[in-house]
Amino acid sequence: MAQDQDGATRRGLLRATGLTAAGVAIGAAGAPGYPPPSPIDAGGVQDGRVRFPEWRGDAEPPSAPTPNPLPPGERVGYAIIGLGRISLEETLPAFAESRMSRPVALVSGSPEKARTVARRYGIAEGSIYSYEELERLRENREVQAVYIGLPNAMHREYVVRVAGIGKHVLCEKPMATSPEEAAEMVTSCARANVRLMIAYRCQYEPYNRAAIEIVRRGELGKLRFIEATNVQSSGPAPQWRFSRRLAGGGALPDIGLYCLNAARYVTGEEPDQLFASSYSPPGDPRWAEIEESVSFGLRFPSGVVANCLCGYDAFNDKTLRLHFERGTVEMPDAFSYEGQQMYVSRREGQIAVREQRRIPHKNQFALELDHFSECVRANRQPHTPGEEGAHDQALMAAIYRSAAEGRPIQAPKPPGPTRGPAPSSES
Ligand code: NAD
Repeated sequence: MAQDQDGATRRGLLRATGLTAAGVAIGAAGAPGYPPPSPIDAGGVQDGRVRFPEWRGDAEPPSAPTPNPLPPGERVGYAIIGLGRISLEETLPAFAESRMSRPVALVSGSPEKARTVARRYGIAEGSIYSYEELERLRENREVQAVYIGLPNAMHREYVVRVAGIGKHVLCEKPMATSPEEAAEMVTSCARANVRLMIAYRCQYEPYNRAAIEIVRRGELGKLRFIEATNVQSSGPAPQWRFSRRLAGGGALPDIGLYCLNAARYVTGEEPDQLFASSYSPPGDPRWAEIEESVSFGLRFPSGVVANCLCGYDAFNDKTLRLHFERGTVEMPDAFSYEGQQMYVSRREGQIAVREQRRIPHKNQFALELDHFSECVRANRQPHTPGEEGAHDQALMAAIYRSAAEGRPIQAPKPPGPTRGPAPSSES
């Protein structure tokens, strides 16, 4: 009788939390010698995934769903080309937090580094390739997609070669070093019928997505002005980032791109007009071939004006500020790898408030990888396809032209839409 009552209570609790649909395994025996766990403690299985009833009071935001990763064999397998900092410090570790993606092969010019990395990530030695052997990836059935983490000027060649062997490509930003290269990359992937995505991680990062939502919902009235800053302090030469041949430019394509891309994704518009000025302090060999800093302004059709600043020789600041008719959104570290924050200032009755909005952290590199994997599995256009990168290349070329000519110029317009469907909330 007591057990029936317990069972009924359990079922009631699960029902209250939406866990009673067919397929839910109710209750659990627990370990011998202890009272059985309650349904709130044990949770249940529904539609093949484990779910827990809410355990917090409704004064707090509900918990996120329990992660539901794909089994390893069903994930999209990636080859990683280029074992530099972004690949080793962010992308490879992010696979551990991904739900649909796994690293299965490496392409590198350093066999010893590749063997060391392969061992850490459980990648077979037979799945390590040199740059020259890249085409052999065609026969590796585990590899469905390729991630490119090479210096900017190498992106074009490697995207075209990967498309040539029929694999999907996730290419680091900036997409290329010129609009012409970007156009060739888009065309090659389209011809080969493979998906191309540019690794615009901020477009998958929850705080940046929340900022987009605030604009779209009109929560603070119309957006009027954007201030975007991305400055950091650079170490000594030689580094490929200081080489025009390898980087294609200086602070603009490397970090100013975040400001440019943010102004576009936040407004959801394309700029009509732009004006830029660039500077390189004389006498420093690091800026002999590339610009140290660029400030640029963009005017959008709705009247929004964006003021953007990027530089290679100032203390780290990656702030995005959005000024609305009825409030301000400040995001320090908007473009950082982690540590995003959001402060919203607005009127509440008789007072002005500045509130902090806390959004659950998710690894943006894992979100980016899983978005691409989802698109590969569903044969769908990614949210940030080659077209998105190609338009930034066209705008950056125009920014350089404006700086060189010292006058405002008409911004080029993309030939069509540059983004695919927005990422799903779970990826
Ligand atoms: P890095 O210098 O740390 O790594 C570059 C890798 O390319 C190294 O493994 C190097 O051995 C290899 N390489 C092959 N040929 C080379 C050559 N001729 N010269 C120099 N390196 C060569 O650079 P990184 O910071 O990892 O940047 C790689 C790419 O990733 C760049 O396009 C960069 O813009 C992009 N990136 C993106 C983010 C992001 O947040 N999405 C962050 C950093 C870098």
